[in-house]
Amino acid sequence: CVQAGWSPTKGEPRVLPIYQSTTFKYDTSEQMARLFDLEDTGFFYTRLQNPTNEAVAAKIAALEGGVGAMLTSSGQAANFYALFNICQAGDHFVCSSAIYGGTFNLFGVTMKKLGIDVTFVSPDASEEEIIAAFRPNTKALFGETISNPSLEVLDIEKFARIAHSQGVPLIVDNTFPTPINCRPFEWGADIVVHSTTKYMDGHATSVGGVIVDSGNFDWEAHAEKYPGLCTPDDSYHGLTYTKAFGKMAYMVKATAQLMRDLGSIQSPQNAFLLNLGLETLHLRMPRHCSNAQAVAEYLSGNDKVAWVNYCGLPGNKYHDLAMKYMPNGSCGVVSFGLKGGRDVAIRFMDNLKLAAIVTHVADARTCVLHPASHTHRQLSDEQLLEAGVRPDLIRFSVGIENVDDIIADIRQALEA
Ligand SMILES: *Cc1c(COP(=O)(O)O)cnc(C)c1O
Repeated sequence: CVQAGWSPTKGEPRVLPIYQSTTFKYDTSEQMARLFDLEDTGFFYTRLQNPTNEAVAAKIAALEGGVGAMLTSSGQAANFYALFNICQAGDHFVCSSAIYGGTFNLFGVTMKKLGIDVTFVSPDASEEEIIAAFRPNTKALFGETISNPSLEVLDIEKFARIAHSQGVPLIVDNTFPTPINCRPFEWGADIVVHSTTKYMDGHATSVGGVIVDSGNFDWEAHAEKYPGLCTPDDSYHGLTYTKAFGKMAYMVKATAQLMRDLGSIQSPQNAFLLNLGLETLHLRMPRHCSNAQAVAEYLSGNDKVAWVNYCGLPGNKYHDLAMKYMPNGSCGVVSFGLKGGRDVAIRFMDNLKLAAIVTHVADARTCVLHPASHTHRQLSDEQLLEAGVRPDLIRFSVGIENVDDIIADIRQALEA
């Protein structure tokens, strides 16, 4: 977190600079031409790559144990690119139903309009049931390590086994645990995505995303499924990514083709702020987790509370999986319901003083959201339950304040 990514040599700035430049200078026309043919590496236009972004991406690749990474303008863009890099119209992928609402819309509505179909499966279904969702045109399996906001824990080894038995990569959204608490590549995942907007930035300053590749998936072994990677690209004079770039094929294609054409680049200014956040990620995550554990235990012991969902609690459905994949802690997000349901939830939230009502989740300041009144407010109670969101669910994102202050705030709001 502290040292990786930016390694200055003699006389260079100690701190990663913001390269606030759209463009980069060359001495000869020939030098520039080689860059455009992907025969040389180097910077030429910030839509494709920028030194600030590259240093931050390298840090995240190191944290996840990947061969390469690419920053995107948001987590939504990262998820879209991760799939669109290997899926085209007529293709299909399989996805855990326990995912972020924005991702659910992107996959279930918008990508369908592009001709890319998805089948959602329960992450708790048996291997046979999940395999039954695969088709000859299935190109990937997708899941979230800890789902936002339902807080279900993905059995990464099971999902990796299923994906590989079907000859496709496993893509994991690792936003909530971050690589501090879980490194999905060590359990068989092939590609990891993040909304860096959350804990990685950590201060709620910048929307951003990242894609990281393990370099482990053998595209050539399934060449008939991945023509975009394994056959010549007409937009690069017939270059074949797997032949030219080996383990970096997926990342080079994502940059050279998708970022070139769709352009969801993260601004160097935001990458700089993300880097500052990453420098303390290993200090903040343990604090988020120990604070959330104390809050979850306090809520469990309070008779005004109807239920608590936090995988760090021994009775939780996902406790064993959490202990396996995240023995040092999961994340700082706890969800719970109050006796009296929706109306009591709203009154409780309005009485909080330290915890702020915001749409955001997973930053340094404790914050709270009532999905039924906010993000999911168009839905009836019946529809809410179908979407896995109870009408009384309060999403409580525990920050890094002194935990006594956080619990004192909850206590006074419960009493009020
Ligand atoms: C927030 C979030 C996203 C979307 O990221 P943005 O940066 O808001 O675009 C994707 N996945 C998860 C798990 C998230 O929490």
